[in-house]
Amino acid sequence: MNLADVIRTIPDYPKPGIMFRDITTLLADARGFRRAVDELVQPLAGAKIDKVAGIEARGFILGGAIAHQLSVGFIPIRKKGKLPFETISERYALEYGVDEVEIHVDAVKEGERILLVDDLIATGGTASAAIRLLERAGASIVLCAFVVDLPDLGGAEKLRAMGKKVTSLIAFDGD
Ligand code: AMP
Repeated sequence: MNLADVIRTIPDYPKPGIMFRDITTLLADARGFRRAVDELVQPLAGAKIDKVAGIEARGFILGGAIAHQLSVGFIPIRKKGKLPFETISERYALEYGVDEVEIHVDAVKEGERILLVDDLIATGGTASAAIRLLERAGASIVLCAFVVDLPDLGGAEKLRAMGKKVTSLIAFDGD
C-alpha cells in the first residue's frame, strides 16, 4: 500500500489556495495507521527515548500510538489555555497574528530524551515553538517525526538548521 493514497487532499480549506492534507482517512485505515506508526519509529531503532511529545490535536493521536508502541510516556503540547496545572509557554508567529503552545511545568525532567510528533510540517513555526518549549524544560530532542512534509514551505529545513533530526513519510509539493 502507498500511504499517500490514504491521505485525503481538500483544496481551498480552510481558505482559498491551501491544499489541506487530511490524515483522518489514514487514521481510519487500520493498515495505514499501523504502517505510519511503524515507519515513524523506524529511525529510532536502538535509540533510547524517555517520552513522546505530540502537538495538538492530530499529534496526540499519532504520538499516543507511538508512545504505546515504544512503552514510554506521552506529553501533550497544547494550545494556550487548555492545560489545568501550572504551565510554561512559547509564542510563535502565524501568517496573521501569533499563537502560543504550552506544556505543564513538570511535564519533562531535565535531560529527558524526547521524540516530537505531529501530523504535518509546513513552515515549521509550530514545531520550532514546541522544540523551544521542550528544551526550556530541560528536554533533549532526539527526533522530530511527521507523517507529511511540505518541503516547499521549508519547515523541515528550518528544524535541521536548528540542529534537529527530522523524519517524514510523505512529501507533497506546494502548500
Ligand atoms: P506550520 O507551523 O506552518 O509548520 O504548520 C503545521 C501545523 O499546521 C500542523 O499542526 C498541521 O496540522 C497544520 N497544517 C499546516 N498546513 C497544513 C496543510 N496544508 N494541511 C493540513 N494541516 C496543515
